[in-house]
Amino acid sequence: MKIMTQYKDGNYSIDVSRGILRDKISDYIKNYNQVFYLADKNVYDLHKNGKLSFIDEPILMEQGEASKYFDAFSSLLETLLEKGIQRTSLLVIIGGGAAGDAGGFAASSILRGVDYIHVPTTLLAHDSSIGGKTAINSKHGKNLIGAFYRPKGVIYDLDFLDSLPESEILSGFGEVIKHALLRDQQTVDALMETTINGIDINEIEPFIIKGIETKMDHVIRDENEADVRKHLNLGHTLGHAIEYRYKMPHGIAVTLGIYAALYISNELNQEQTFDLKHYYEYFKGLNYPIDMLKEIDADEMISLMSKDKKNQSVNRVGYIVMNSTGEARFTELEQDLLTKFINSLKESL
Ligand code: NAD
Repeated sequence: MKIMTQYKDGNYSIDVSRGILRDKISDYIKNYNQVFYLADKNVYDLHKNGKLSFIDEPILMEQGEASKYFDAFSSLLETLLEKGIQRTSLLVIIGGGAAGDAGGFAASSILRGVDYIHVPTTLLAHDSSIGGKTAINSKHGKNLIGAFYRPKGVIYDLDFLDSLPESEILSGFGEVIKHALLRDQQTVDALMETTINGIDINEIEPFIIKGIETKMDHVIRDENEADVRKHLNLGHTLGHAIEYRYKMPHGIAVTLGIYAALYISNELNQEQTFDLKHYYEYFKGLNYPIDMLKEIDADEMISLMSKDKKNQSVNRVGYIVMNSTGEARFTELEQDLLTKFINSLKESL
């Protein structure tokens, strides 16, 4: 499956399928005389005798989120310079969202910008590899240093997903659910029916593709996140606070955040727009730690949410809520009202 971005210019393709890696990489690298492979250390170890055996001497990036800290990033840049990177070189970045974010930012900044392609290896990266956001972390918070910088292409070889641990499948699937909710009820119903007894990568492939399309649609309409791209933050405001406080994988925390957003949407809509019992049972059945929401402290969460770089108002927290499935909107909630919602959500569980 090939999906083309639809920007005015600077478009790239996203190839999604099994077994496509080698052929697709060959298509890209023939246009460059120097190619550097940057791979998440863990992914390389798992696949060096298989799918990645054709790569000689990759530059290994720290595993996962560790690659997004300043020291690791600086050492990556120095390694590339030591190896003689030129403006005409290509970076091939292999790994999940973390490697993609750090590698993409390296591509954007080194020598004032070199070309890169992304080879996502996690389910979550069906989201993170689309949209051209790159970033590393600061001691002041996640993703605070970065750039919008599009890749020349994305090669999403789904074979990689077979080696993901369950927690990473659940994490990535949270974003698949989010994209379905932003799309329409038919997609949500079909997704729930397909996964009611568990998540099988082969069975959810059509929903991964729909997720990519939904993400792409939002970022193309609003690349710099002034308007509709904000809707992609569904579940993320509370999700980020939970992720930070409880150190759980991003998409699992986002799924708890999505449940909270559906609850708050019902409260704001003053009707049961979303059948929360149904969602609760579905999430619990898939092993999301949904009851953990009972433990959160509203004041602590709101204090963390207020630090989100997307917040611009004092005493109010920017939040994505849903008028109905497929119809999200941005609102700002007074902190007192949000406290009330979080406490009543806890009581409802
Ligand atoms: P990750 O890249 O941190 O990887 C998670 C873990 O899975 C790591 O330990 C990694 O080594 C391992 N892993 C990766 N691929 C594997 C495979 N095929 N088999 C086995 N293990 C594998 O996690 P992620 O969830 O892909 O990405 C999270 C990051 O993405 C966060 O830093 C988040 O901020 C970022 N993100 C960025 C965007 C964006 O638009 N740029 C969007 C969403 C998330």
